[in-house]
Amino acid sequence: MRDVRTLNTLPERYPYSCQWEITCRCNLRCVMCYTDCCNRPDAIRHELTTPEILRIMDELAEAGCLELCLTGGEPLARPDFFTLYDHAVASGFLVTLFTNGTLVTEDVADRLAALPPHRIEISLHGLTEATFEQVTQGRGSHGKCLTAIQLLRERGLPLLLKTTAMTVNQHEIMDIKRYAQDLGVGYALGEDLRPALDGGEGPFRYALSPVERDELNRGDPDLWQEACRQQAAPPTPCRSGMRTFHIDAYGGLQLCSGNRAQSYDLRQGSFKEGFYRHLPTFACPWKAQPSAHLLQPTASHA
Ligand code: SF4
Ligand code: SF4
Repeated sequence: MRDVRTLNTLPERYPYSCQWEITCRCNLRCVMCYTDCCNRPDAIRHELTTPEILRIMDELAEAGCLELCLTGGEPLARPDFFTLYDHAVASGFLVTLFTNGTLVTEDVADRLAALPPHRIEISLHGLTEATFEQVTQGRGSHGKCLTAIQLLRERGLPLLLKTTAMTVNQHEIMDIKRYAQDLGVGYALGEDLRPALDGGEGPFRYALSPVERDELNRGDPDLWQEACRQQAAPPTPCRSGMRTFHIDAYGGLQLCSGNRAQSYDLRQGSFKEGFYRHLPTFACPWKAQPSAHLLQPTASHA
């Protein structure tokens, strides 16, 4: 049995949880997407290769990393997705998969069920076809997403549905939440949008005004309770880079997905070098403040 003192004396800083944007490829073009600007052949050519990802994954495992969130873009849009996924699960990571669901076929669902993840999070940005596809700009994507939810539920896979609240879908948020509740799966609502990776402000065209946010929250006891809790809670300093970190599609190690100003190139050096020597030197203008600007219940992607 592990000595309890060992468990109580974990170092303050160690690589516990990684969010890894394994690609910016995606089959959809959501109106508020911040990675879509990198969903181009010239950018995709520079993304990490299969051997590079496997090598870095091994280094994470060796460094003791436990949680691994595979996100994008759309992770399933990588042709080598299951090479990466199977390796991650077999390496002992608690794997969470963020997906838009539309590439989940019977075969994909079977493969996920064969090596189940810790959790799968699907973005459901509208309950009706019209709203869903107004967000995703992909014809037929609504039906594919609902089919994915059904396929994954049939296999008993741990599922969470999530929505980014925007001007174009705010009228359906409560219906989506009820839909998730009726299915007996988890639900998370995110309200925050972020600039595109190239600095473009396009996603903010769909941001709710403070009044619209307030109305949305007041319309549901759970949302209102959560909004009140957040307002009442004392500000907590951001701890990104202490136990959590982010890797982008090109091998850049960063404090979090929202701050890519400084990056350590994992193609050139080892993960341990990056995490222990370089990450602690990275700055963030918002670090001294509560990180409410990035409150995103894992809702932004895919
Ligand atoms: S303050 Fe916000 S942007 Fe800065 S490192 Fe923390 S979570 Fe990231
Ligand atoms: S938000 Fe997600 S699903 Fe939509 S285009 Fe971007 S990566 Fe694809």
